[in-house]
Amino acid sequence: MARTALVTGGTRGIGEAISVALKDAGYNVAANYGGNDQAAQEFTARTGIPAYKFDVSDFDAVTAGIQAIEQDVGPVEVLVNNAGITRDGTLHKMTHDKWQAVIDTNLGSCFNCCRAVIEGMRERSFGRIVNIGSINGQAGQYGQVNYAAAKSGIHGFTKALAQEGAGKGITVNAVAPGYVDTEMVRAVPPEVLEKIIKRIPMGRLGKPEDIARTVVFLVADTADFITGATVSVNGGQHMY
Ligand code: NDP
Repeated sequence: MARTALVTGGTRGIGEAISVALKDAGYNVAANYGGNDQAAQEFTARTGIPAYKFDVSDFDAVTAGIQAIEQDVGPVEVLVNNAGITRDGTLHKMTHDKWQAVIDTNLGSCFNCCRAVIEGMRERSFGRIVNIGSINGQAGQYGQVNYAAAKSGIHGFTKALAQEGAGKGITVNAVAPGYVDTEMVRAVPPEVLEKIIKRIPMGRLGKPEDIARTVVFLVADTADFITGATVSVNGGQHMY
């Protein structure tokens, strides 16, 4: 029987590549998104993967959304916490709203989604959770105290939950992408992006598929001895 996988923010960018790669690997995939209905409809038309709209930063909305997915598609055995946003600004200019939105959407979402699926995973003695972190959570980044704090929090969350799940057949890992060519990165000014690419040993931005392949590897039944790990997928940038 095919396992059911949920990818949050799974309709665009890296999330779309993960949804498609999981479908190609034989999973029953459900993709979540936050508000861009047109992108979600086009995604479903292109891929045949159903899209579910709910705000991952809202605990009650996540609980109801995942309940609907479990009824329609099946019990979530694979969860990829991918939804994320940036609201950049140096701390001395950052509003509290920008801080809170980024913490809630990037980190609060991991609690909300994991909380909604963890009891089922424990009962079935099987689960695969992958949280999408960031090189900027590992190294920090000028103008991103909110994003770096949230992503760094994801790495701690991953290791703690990995310890709780280990005796129950549940693995929890993080993937930390470097700069990947999506809309999020297209918002970075070209002159800044040029400097960033110079610091990537492989000399290019990542592709969404680079991240997706890593996720597929980590969620496989056979990856059952890998947990609490953070896999850096960044063309070697983490060394600089
Ligand atoms: P995109 O901006 O291209 O896509 C973001 C996705 O997340 C969309 O599907 C969006 O839905 C969804 N989303 C945003 N907010 C919410 C919300 N509140 N509730 C539900 N869904 C939401 O992002 P990327 O593909 O670039 O990034 C994906 C992940 O990878 C993020 O966690 C990001 O931080 C991380 N990352 C990205 C890097 C990069 O270089 N691109 C580098 C390192 C990490 P909708 O379409 O409805 O807006």
